Amino acid sequence: MSPPPIPDHEELRLAALHDLCILDTPQDPAFDDLTCLTAQLLDAPIALVSLVDRERQWFKSAYGLPVRETPRDVSFCAYAVYDRALLVVEDATRDDRFADNALVTGEPFIRFYAGAPLFSDDGFALGTLCVIDRTPRALGQRELSVLQGLARQAELLLRLHHRSRKLSFQVDQTSAVSARYRAITEGAAAGIVRINGHGCILEVNPFACRMLGYRQDELLGQNVKMLMPSRWGDSHDRYVQAYQRTGEAKVIGKGREVEALHRDGHSIPVHLAVSEVEHGAGADDHESRQFIGILSDLRDVHAAREREQKERALLEVLHRGLTDYHALLSGNTLWAFLKEALCRLTGSDYALIGEVVRQDGQPALKVHAITDLSWSDESRYLMERLVRGDMMLSNPEGLLGRVFAGGETVLSNDMPGEHSGGGLPSGHPELKRFLGVPITDRGEVIGMYAIANAPRAYDEGLVDWLKPFTSTCALLINLYRQLSKQQRFTEELREAKEQAEAANQAKTEFLSSMSHELRTPLNAILGFAQLLRNSRQPLPTRQHNQVEQIIRSGRHLLSLINEVLDLARIESGNLQLSMEAIRAQDVVQDAIEIVLPLAQQQGITVNLPIRAQGEVHLVGDYTRVKQVLINLLSNAIKYNRPGGSVSLEGQVVADAFRICVRDTGIGIPAHRLDELFQPFNRLGAESGSVEGTGVGLALTLKLVTLMQGRLGVDSREGEGSAFWFELPLSHQAVSDEAGAEAEAERPETVSLATRHRVLYIEDNPANQRLMQELFEEIDHAQLTCANSAALGIELACSEVPDLILMDIDLPDMNGFQAQELLARNPLTAGVPVLAISAAASSGNIRRAREAGFVDYLTKPFDLLAFVGQVNRILEEGAHR
Ligand code: ADP
Repeated sequence: MSPPPIPDHEELRLAALHDLCILDTPQDPAFDDLTCLTAQLLDAPIALVSLVDRERQWFKSAYGLPVRETPRDVSFCAYAVYDRALLVVEDATRDDRFADNALVTGEPFIRFYAGAPLFSDDGFALGTLCVIDRTPRALGQRELSVLQGLARQAELLLRLHHRSRKLSFQVDQTSAVSARYRAITEGAAAGIVRINGHGCILEVNPFACRMLGYRQDELLGQNVKMLMPSRWGDSHDRYVQAYQRTGEAKVIGKGREVEALHRDGHSIPVHLAVSEVEHGAGADDHESRQFIGILSDLRDVHAAREREQKERALLEVLHRGLTDYHALLSGNTLWAFLKEALCRLTGSDYALIGEVVRQDGQPALKVHAITDLSWSDESRYLMERLVRGDMMLSNPEGLLGRVFAGGETVLSNDMPGEHSGGGLPSGHPELKRFLGVPITDRGEVIGMYAIANAPRAYDEGLVDWLKPFTSTCALLINLYRQLSKQQRFTEELREAKEQAEAANQAKTEFLSSMSHELRTPLNAILGFAQLLRNSRQPLPTRQHNQVEQIIRSGRHLLSLINEVLDLARIESGNLQLSMEAIRAQDVVQDAIEIVLPLAQQQGITVNLPIRAQGEVHLVGDYTRVKQVLINLLSNAIKYNRPGGSVSLEGQVVADAFRICVRDTGIGIPAHRLDELFQPFNRLGAESGSVEGTGVGLALTLKLVTLMQGRLGVDSREGEGSAFWFELPLSHQAVSDEAGAEAEAERPETVSLATRHRVLYIEDNPANQRLMQELFEEIDHAQLTCANSAALGIELACSEVPDLILMDIDLPDMNGFQAQELLARNPLTAGVPVLAISAAASSGNIRRAREAGFVDYLTKPFDLLAFVGQVNRILEEGAHR
C-alpha cells in the first residue's frame, strides 16, 4: 500500500485549514446533526466530517465511529482532497489503493467509501463529508447529489464556525479596548468630558467630577455650558455650531488655557484640549458628532506662577530700595515707596513703616510712611503730625507697641474676635486682619512694619517670605541713620566754615580798612617829607637828614603795611592774580633796576648770567613775579657782606624755569632754615642793623605757591645762600609790546610845560593840602580842590578841567559813582579822570580801568612818578 498523494500547494492548503481554527475543537451539535442526517439519508453506518491535516485526518464529527482521528497514511479522504473531486470506492478489497489498508483489513473493515471534498473560501480542499459502509455497495445518482448537497452544508458550517470564532475574538478585543479606555478615563489625573454636537454631556470621568464639585449623575445629560463661566458658556453653542459648519477651531485639536466653573461658583484655571471623536462616514448630524475635552487643572501651575511673580516683585522692590536708596532718600520717597510695595506685595489695604527712636529713654515709633486711613479732620491732623515726625507713638501696650517696644510679631486674622475693638479709636476703619513685624538689627528692634486687611489670611509663611524685605528695611534704616548723621555733620561743617569765612572776611576787612587808615596819614607824611626834601630852598644838612629819616621810616612802614595786607589777602583767598606769559628777561631786568641802587649803596656786585638764557617765558603774574624777585634780591643784598656779590642764574628744569638768587652773604644756620618762612620771624636779624619786617619770605613763598610754582633754599652759615623758585614754562611767545608797555609805565621825571586846570575831589584836608603844596611847587598847572563828589561835579561842569583827580572814598558817593556821572555828562565826558585811593587791591585797579578811569593810583604814591603821569595825561589831552 502506498500513502495517499500530496496535493499541490499543500502548505497553503494546510494554512487555510489551520486558519479555520477548528482542529481539536469540541464536538459541535450542528456538525453532529449533519453527519447523523447524512448517514440516515444514505443509509450508511458511518458518516464523517473529516479534515485532512499534515499527518492525520481529524473528524469534526464522526457518526458511527468511536475515534476522533486516524493517520493520514490510511486516509481515504486524502485521495478525495488530492483529486478535489467526489471519491467513490464501492469495494475497497478490490481497489489496489485500499485493499491492504489497515482500515480495510482491520476495524472498522471498510468496504464502501463515498466522500465529497469540502472547500475553503479560497478554494482549497480541506477535507470531506463522507459515508462508510462495512459491505460493498454502490450509490445512485440521486444519492451522490444528496451527498454533495450535504457537503455544501458542511462547508457552510465550517464558514460559520470560522466567523463566529473571529467574532468572538473581536468581541474579546473590543472589551479589552473598552477596559483600557475605562482604566484611562477612571484613573486619569485629568478631567475627561465627552459631549455630542449639541454640547450634551455623554460621559464625564471621576477626576472632572472631583475638580468641578459634581456627582457624575448630576452632569450626564446636561449641557456642558454649566461647567463654564457665563462669558464663555453663552458663546459655546455658537462656537460648536460654527465649528461644525465651517471646521474653524479655537480649542479643537489645539488646546488653550480657559476657566472652568466649579459647582460653588468659583472659577478654576484649566488647560482644555478638545478632539472630535471620529465616527466614520455618515456621522454628520449634531447628535452623532462627538467631542472629547481633556481638562488639566492649572491651579498648581497658576499658584507657582503667582509665587514666582511675587518673588520677582519682591526682588524688584528690594533691588530698587537698595540701588536707588540715595535718590529715594533725598527725594523723601523711600519710605512711601516701601510702604506702597508692602501693600502691593501682600495685597493689603493698609501698611505702615516706622523707625524706633528713644524718647525719655523709652522706645517710641517714628512713623516714616503710613496709608492714609484718617476718618475725620482730627484724625487727619494726627496722621499728618505722625508723618511729619511731630508726634511719636509710645504706648508699649498697644497693638503697634507690642511690636516696636516688645519686639513681638503680632499676627491676627480675626481682629474683631481676638482684639475686641483692637484698642482702636472709634471711627477708625475696621481692621479684619493684622500683621505687625519688628525690624531688628543685631538683636535690637530698630523699626517695624505693619499691614492690614489683605483678602487672604496672614500666616507664618508670609512672615518668612517677607524676611528679605524685613532685613532690607533694617539695612535702609541704618543707612538712613548714617546719612542723617552725615548730613548733620556736613551741616555743622558748613556752619563752621561759614563762621571761619566770616571771621576771615572780618579780618580782611579789618586789615584793608586799617591799611587804608594808615596809608592816608602816611601819604601826607611821605608827601610833605618829599616836598621838604625837594623844596626850592635847600634844607640845612641836619634837617635834610631828619627828613630823609622820615622818608625812610615812612617807606618802611608802607612796605610793612603792603606786605601784611598781601599776606592777609592770600590767606583769605582774596588775592587776585593775572596769570600770563612773561618774558623772564623782562621781569628780571625790571627787578634788578629797582634793587640796583641798593646794591650800589651796599657795594655789592650783581652778576646777571641769566641773559644768556635768551628767550624764556614763564607763566605768572608779572607784578607778583617781580615782587618775588625783588624780595629775594634785596635779601641777598641786605644780608651780604661788604664787597660781596649776588648772582642770578636761570635754568630750565623739566617743564619749569628755575631762577636762583645766589649770594656770598652771612648764610643761614641749618637748624633755623625751618623758621625762614614764618611771618615776622627775622631769625635774630631784628637785633642787627639791617632793616626788615620778617614778612618778605613768608609772602614770597605764598606768592610762588599761588602761581603754581616751587621755592627752595640752600644755605651755608658764613658762606652764603641760594634762594630759588620755579614757575611753569610758557610755550607761548610774548609780544614785545608788553615790555614796551612796561617801559611806558615807568615813571618819568617830566615837568609840566603849560598851565592846565586840574580838579582834585578829595575830602581829607591833609591830602588836599599836600596836593596843593605839590602843585604850588610847579607853576604849569593850577589845582582846584572840592571836598565832596557833588561839589566836584558841579565845578567840573562850570569850568571844565583838563584832568580830574578823584578820591574813591568820598562822603556823599564813591568815586566810581561820581565817575559814572561825569562820563554821562557831555560836558565832562571827555575829561580824563585819575583815581587816587588808599584802598590798594588789584581788583580795584581793574574795576577802575573798566569804569573808565585812566588809571588808579594807590596812596601813598611817589611824587615824581605822579607828576610824570599827570604830565603825560595833560599832554595827551592837549594833543587831542
Ligand atoms: P626781612 O624783612 O627780615 O628781610 P624776610 O622774610 O625777607 O624778612 O627774611 C626773613 C629772615 O631770613 C631775615 O630776617 C634774615 O634773617 C633771613 N634771610 C633772608 N634772606 C637771607 C639771605 N639771603 N641770607 C641770609 N639770611 C637771610
